[in-house]
Amino acid sequence: MNIKKTAFISIIAFLIVIAVYFIWRYVRYRTTIIVQEEERPETSTIGTITPVIIDSTNMPIIPTTIPLPTNTLGPIYSNIPSHCMENYATVAGTANFSESEFASRDGSTTPNQLKGNLQLLMQQLEVIRAAAGNKPVTVSSGYRSVAHNAAEGGAAKSKHVCCQAADIKIAGMSANKVYDLIAQLIESGQIINGGLGKYNTFTHYDISTSRRWDYS
Ligand SMILES: [Zn+2]
Repeated sequence: MNIKKTAFISIIAFLIVIAVYFIWRYVRYRTTIIVQEEERPETSTIGTITPVIIDSTNMPIIPTTIPLPTNTLGPIYSNIPSHCMENYATVAGTANFSESEFASRDGSTTPNQLKGNLQLLMQQLEVIRAAAGNKPVTVSSGYRSVAHNAAEGGAAKSKHVCCQAADIKIAGMSANKVYDLIAQLIESGQIINGGLGKYNTFTHYDISTSRRWDYS
C-alpha cells in the first residue's frame, strides 16, 4: 500500500514538474514574441528597395513644345489661320530657293510660325528642279497673307496662307509637263504626296494632304 501510494505521489509530482516546465516554456515563448514584435524596426534592412534618386541635372531635356526663344521670335504673328499646321523656323532657304521668292505679294512678313513649312516646301521644289534638269523654277505665288489671299480670290483654306504651297513655272516646260513631272515624283515617292493642281500657265503644288485638280 505504501509502495503504491509513494509511486502514485511520485507520478503526480513528476506530471506537475512536467506541466510546470511546459507552462514556463509557453510563457517564455509568448513573452519572447511580444518583445520581438515590439522591438522590430519599422523597416527591415533586408529586402528593402533603395529609392532611386533622380538627378535632374543629368536628365535629357525632352521638349514638349517647340521652344520659341523670345530673342529670335521675330515679329509676332498672332492670327495664324486655324487650318494651318504651325512649324516654327527663324529662316527658310535651300540652294536654289530663298524666302523672298515666296514672300506675300502684299508685303506681309512671312511668320516664323510657318517658315518650317516653307523650308519643307523648298526641299520638295529642289527635287522637282533637279528632276527637270536643273531648269530655273519661277515661283509666281508662294506665301499669301490671309488678306492678300482673300484679295486674290484664293480659297479660304488655301495652303498658300500656311506657307505650304507654291504656284510654279519651269523654264522651257509647259504647265502640263510640269504637272506630269510632279505627278511622277509623287508616284515614285520622291516628294511629299500633297496637292497638285493643273492650270494653263502654272502648276500648283503643296505639301498638305493628297489632292488633284485640273483648272486648265
Ligand atoms: Zn496655288
